[in-house]
Formats: sequence, structure tokens, C-alpha cells
Amino acid sequence: MAVSQSGVRFGTHRVVDPPGSLPQAARVVDNSLPIHPTEILVDVEMLNVDSASFAQMREASGHDPAGVEALILETVAQRGKQHNPVTGSGGMLTGVVREVGPEYRGCVDAVAGDRIATLVSLSLTPLKLEKVKKVHMDRDQVEVEGHAILFESGVAVKMPDDFSREAALAILDVAGAPAQAFRLVKPGMDVGIIGTGKSGLLCCAVARRVLGDKGRVFGVDRQSESLDLMMDMGYVDVPVLADATDPVAVYEAVHRATDGNLLDVVMNTTNVPGTEMSTVMAARDLGTAYSFNMATSFTAAALGAEGIGKDVTMLIGNGYLKDHTRISLDFVRSDSRLMAYFEDKYGD
Ligand code: NAP
Repeated sequence: MAVSQSGVRFGTHRVVDPPGSLPQAARVVDNSLPIHPTEILVDVEMLNVDSASFAQMREASGHDPAGVEALILETVAQRGKQHNPVTGSGGMLTGVVREVGPEYRGCVDAVAGDRIATLVSLSLTPLKLEKVKKVHMDRDQVEVEGHAILFESGVAVKMPDDFSREAALAILDVAGAPAQAFRLVKPGMDVGIIGTGKSGLLCCAVARRVLGDKGRVFGVDRQSESLDLMMDMGYVDVPVLADATDPVAVYEAVHRATDGNLLDVVMNTTNVPGTEMSTVMAARDLGTAYSFNMATSFTAAALGAEGIGKDVTMLIGNGYLKDHTRISLDFVRSDSRLMAYFEDKYGD
């Protein structure tokens, strides 16, 4: 195969359709063996499907694990990767390295036999599935048999040995969000986290620690159970019960809770479409609205903010931040309540 060095590095040599696109944007990638000399071959054990994608498949299949399995097998067979055609998102995987190509010069420090987790999206990772063994409907994880291929530009880490595989995957999947919370939150701020699932919990906990006794954490969710849990764990100061798909309701509730000041930083970690304007409207003028939710529409956020004359800094939640896995795992390690939460909820 005659390919340029940069083509090999970013995986464009595996793009089937449309030619010239990057693997993430591609409709179809080539998942065939053998690997190219600059690639890594992984025997896949588990997919951690991103929450927006899993929620969409759960709904589409009527909450039936067999239906989710069928959707995953169909997507991977058609596209050569787990790139949800509706949400456009993926997730990540864990498995055991079978082979490192002799010309591989990427950043993954692993040899054959190492168990790793990929930190690049399944939406761009060539994947071939032999079998789906079990769909875990309660934690967005799917046990599988198959192989995946990593490019030189791909990021992956060895699985930590002080977490269960399932808990580590759950944390690593959303590692970008708590790492970003460390950057955005400053003492004295009022910070809002919309959606208090796993990334939301981590962001609340980071915000609470950074703020100390200066500033407040507002948790916004449509269910009181998760807000009660965050309050009990001490990560949320002010619970706000509101549906993020109803931006006016969120705005009014946050307006009341902040005596009209609104929030300095709003982080949206929900997993459903139609929540953009809740993020924008809950932020004060010149505040920051961060969207980690994969079901976020750039158009809805940008035109919606313009439409209400709101000047906020809008950030897209990049899944990769420098050192994000170390930051997130170390943060969880430093808090026994978080460690227990992830092991209880996700560990087998
Ligand atoms: P999660 O654990 O499923 O949490 C989502 C939370 O949002 C849940 O607490 C959920 O509550 C809440 N929620 C859903 N709809 C809501 C609504 N209408 N109003 C208020 N709250 C609502 O998800 P996660 O794993 O933390 O992931 C969060 C998002 O990040 C997902 O969209 C995921 O795809 C995305 N993600 C992004 C990246 C990236 O690189 N940017 C990487 C990984 C994941 P219920 O329990 O009531 O449903």
C-alpha cells in the first residue's frame, strides 16, 4: 500500500468512503487484517459505548439488550467501526495488545500481552466483531470478541491495576470532563453542572474541591435521586430540579437559585439532544458554557445564543486533554467516596 507518512499516522490509509476524509468523518473504514507496520492490533474484550450513543440505541431498541446488540453488529458490519449513525459518536474500548507493528512510532507504551484502554473514539477506530457476549444495559458497556486497530496518532493507556476493569473504563471514558473542570473552575465562582451522571459527578466533585469555602456548586438534573446522592456525598451545594430539554425552566430555576446572578461556569454533561440553550441561558453574561454532551448541536448553541443576545464563551468538550487520564484517575484515587461509587456502580 503506497501511503504518505502523515496518511499512515492519522489512519487515512484505512478510509474507504469518502476518499480523502479522516477516519472519524468517514462513512466506512477498512477493518481488515493484517495490520500496517505502523499500527497496533488489539484483541477487544469490552466496548464502553458513549452515553449519548447508548441512550439512543436503548430507546431505538425498546430497552431490549438483543436490540442493542443487533444495532451494534449492524453498525460495525456496515461502517467497519462503532460509529453510531444517528448520534455520530462512539465510545472507547479495552482489550489485550496482540501485535505492535515494527514501524509503530506512536505514544502508546505497550507490548503484546498488555491490557489497554483506547482514548480515541470508537467512531474512528477500525473494529471487527466476531461476537457480542453480553450487553450491560445499566452501564453502557458491551462484552465482545473481535479485533481493533490503532493508528500512530491514537492515544491509549495501560489499564490501571487498582481499579476493576469496568470502573476504570467508566472513568477513562469521560476523563476529559473532570480535567476540564480543573481548568475552568476558580475559587469564588458559582458553578453549574447540568446532568449528574458519571461525568457530572466527577465535575461536581472537582468543582467542590477547587472552590473550597469560596463559591458554590449547583447540580441540575431532572431526577431528584441523583441530586440527593450528590448532596449526600457533599459535592453539590444547591440542587436544581429541572429538565435540561426545557431551557426556560432551567433558566428560571437557576435564576431563582442564584438570586438573579446566574452562573459563572456551566458544564453540560447530559446525554440527550436539545439541551444547548439550557447551558447558554444558565450562564451569566461573559460566563462560560461548556458542552461535553455528545448530542450537542453547534448550530443550536450558536444561533440560540445569538437569538437571545447572550454573550458567553462556548466551549466544545474535547475528549482529550493533556494528562487527562492521570488527572482523573488520581482524583478518584484521592477520594474514597468516589472510588466506592465507581466500584459499586460499575465494577462487576
Ligand atoms: P451519564 O452517566 O449517562 O449521565 C448523563 C446524565 O444526564 C444522567 O444523570 C441523566 O439523568 C442526565 N440527563 C439526561 N437527560 C436529562 C435532562 N433532560 N435533564 C437533566 N438531566 C438529564 O453520561 P456520561 O457518561 O456522564 O456522559 C455524559 C455525556 O458526555 C454524554 O452525552 C456522552 O456521550 C458525552 N461524552 C462526551 C465525550 C467527549 O469527548 N466530549 C466523551 C465521553 C462522553 P437520567 O439518569 O435521569 O437519565
